[in-house]
Amino acid sequence: MLNIGRGFNAISRKWKSPAGLVFSRPLVLLQSDDWGRVGVRDRDAMERLAAAGVKLGEHPYDFYSLETAEDVGALQEMLCRHRDSTGRPPCLVMNFVVANLDFARMADEGFRKLYLQPLADGLPGKWERPGLFEAYRNGTSSGVFYPGLHGSTHFCRSAVEAKLATDDKVAGLLRTLWREETPYIHWRMPWIGFEYWNPEGGRFLEGTEQASLIRESAELFRKTFSKAAFSACAPGYRANRDTRSAWEQCGIRVVQNGGGGTSPISIDDMGMLETFRNVDFEPATAGSRFSLHDCAQRAQENLDRGTPAVISVHAINFHSTLRDFRNPTLMLLDRFLSLLEARCPDLLYVNDADLYELATTGRYEGLHGTVQATVSQSGLFRRVAGRR
Ligand SMILES: [Zn+2]
Repeated sequence: MLNIGRGFNAISRKWKSPAGLVFSRPLVLLQSDDWGRVGVRDRDAMERLAAAGVKLGEHPYDFYSLETAEDVGALQEMLCRHRDSTGRPPCLVMNFVVANLDFARMADEGFRKLYLQPLADGLPGKWERPGLFEAYRNGTSSGVFYPGLHGSTHFCRSAVEAKLATDDKVAGLLRTLWREETPYIHWRMPWIGFEYWNPEGGRFLEGTEQASLIRESAELFRKTFSKAAFSACAPGYRANRDTRSAWEQCGIRVVQNGGGGTSPISIDDMGMLETFRNVDFEPATAGSRFSLHDCAQRAQENLDRGTPAVISVHAINFHSTLRDFRNPTLMLLDRFLSLLEARCPDLLYVNDADLYELATTGRYEGLHGTVQATVSQSGLFRRVAGRR
């Protein structure tokens, strides 16, 4: 067992093994994508799309809109009711898409080119969400939200630009959506790909292109939150070594990966902490397949191994504009957190920055002072009582 408090920095600098990190305390992280990205604006837009031949309602993501101040406030309130063993509430890592399409400017040019509107400059076109930015700020300053970087467009710009240039029929669907200020609905047009991954030929963008997109996103993030991003999750989880390298250059130190199953948390050869989501808490998209019991079991299995429970819960789960996903999710998440707290008296809620601090120094600053834990490589460690 390694006592991180003494000498782990030296060890971690030399240690480039992908072996997993095992923590002496049960740690719970909540990671959530797609904040700030607009979808279908409201019922009126939905009806106008139906009139234009796009009948929505077949898939949960047809009801993806954008969170409201009320959605965000209700989430904050629920999180604030919970406490870990140090008295700290859970912290949701919210990965933001830091720009939307500038629909008005694109309309002026017949929807032939892409233009972005930074989130820092407000919402595009007729989109309105009174008090939303203040709600983000309230949750962040009260410590229950922690902003991370998702990207600028979510879709692959070069894939979309190539289709627009050919005037392909499928690009017509995109233009119909754009007229109603909806950027895309991915399941209806998977050819748009993900920000760093072009499905045409199934390839990642070149390193220089990714680096340029990531520099732009990092700058827009800074403009939105007045600080640099520290944690990132690639749209669609499509990230390769070039993505990581560009993130690292922009100051990112925590990489969020999807569906890791039992993938261990580790420090990669660039010194970045690799986290893997291991509990899918997605009632909005899972529908009747969602099981609170299974989520709690998955979390427990990871905690028993000394691996943090990394909960994935996308922003759609908290939307209420087109369909009330929010209230069922809040009820389920409330029960889930209560279960974890009851089962693990020494539970710690951490965000990505805390976990990085813990992994590299053996401690982090909690709400009520320094929290310490021991960390080791998997296979060399048995869970022991940690110290605070
Ligand atoms: Zn996403």
